[in-house]
Amino acid sequence: MASRPPFVRSDIPRIDMHTHVLLGAASRAARLFDRNGIVHAVNLSGPPASVGLDDFIADSEIAYSRSTMFTNLDWSLCEQSGYAERMVEDLVRAKALGARGLKIPKILGLGARGPSGKLLAIDDSSLDLVFEKAGELGMPVAIHSGDPQAFWQEPSARNERYEELQAHPSWSFYAPHQRGEVPSWQALFEAFVRRVARHPKTIFIGVHFGNAPEDPELVARALDTYPNLLIDTAARLPAIGRRDANHSPERMRAFFLKYQDRILFGSDTAVGRAPDALMFGSTGKEPPSEADGDRFFEATWRYFETMDSDIPSPTPIQGRWNIAGIGLPRAVLEKIYYRNAARLLSLTISPTPLPKPEPKIVPGSLQDL
Ligand SMILES: [Zn+2]
Repeated sequence: MASRPPFVRSDIPRIDMHTHVLLGAASRAARLFDRNGIVHAVNLSGPPASVGLDDFIADSEIAYSRSTMFTNLDWSLCEQSGYAERMVEDLVRAKALGARGLKIPKILGLGARGPSGKLLAIDDSSLDLVFEKAGELGMPVAIHSGDPQAFWQEPSARNERYEELQAHPSWSFYAPHQRGEVPSWQALFEAFVRRVARHPKTIFIGVHFGNAPEDPELVARALDTYPNLLIDTAARLPAIGRRDANHSPERMRAFFLKYQDRILFGSDTAVGRAPDALMFGSTGKEPPSEADGDRFFEATWRYFETMDSDIPSPTPIQGRWNIAGIGLPRAVLEKIYYRNAARLLSLTISPTPLPKPEPKIVPGSLQDL
């Protein structure tokens, strides 16, 4: 067999719509992003205005100016009545401090409790004014609802995320769901869609491939129905790059072509200050290294840019299978890598080609020799 030339990523700039850069780690994150072709990062981990957002923004701007901050809500407020009004106040202040969007983590639907002690549903009407206000302020809402379907299945050796669940037993919702403590995956997804439907003037980013990477048809239906919905690709290339009944490179390529204006590149990279405070899509028992990060990004670019059928998974702990690339045309890559995000956040990104990275031998290419 002829050997494949080493993969070299395209020179298109990237905006990473889904990162978590912790306090004091912005310059470390900047080095990692620069090395991997990312020219701008959206940090979804900005705290609420009342919990130090100003310091957080100042710190990250000094260290890395090419970032955009999303704010979070203080979910502990929900224990007392009047919480939605207090959240709205926080949101208005966050916008004034420089936050550009709102992040809703999976705690909504799975952990946050109202004053009665009951779990708050994703579409609980008490929170309507928060989502309305986000739309009024022009702040897109990046919303993570539910989690991988495998987390609702028995955490046995047959579970495709067994390795990840063994490293993090608390990530499993199987037993809590059996005990009636958390909703089903399906109920959470439906509540997420109802939330998007209720606020047509608010832009939602369904993170992790619309919160349903296992079922692109479901995501397609939501995109077709709700023009205010976008999705990101964060931490879900293993799920969508696999070959199974719902996924094939041909089907996924057609999906990306059809929804090319609605998909945003995101990685789910997390960077903290401590040497082991790194995450690329997920974590195992051992923390990843920066070299793991380079492999993660290389696999990511290969997925979007080539039709290679045997790309090592960017996040192998999510399942030990290779993924198949979808080889998107350059104009579509440009939209997904940065044009859609730049339009959404009114960012000016120079399309000037980045310096070409040094070609590297890709792991796995030895098989072809
Ligand atoms: Zn994330």
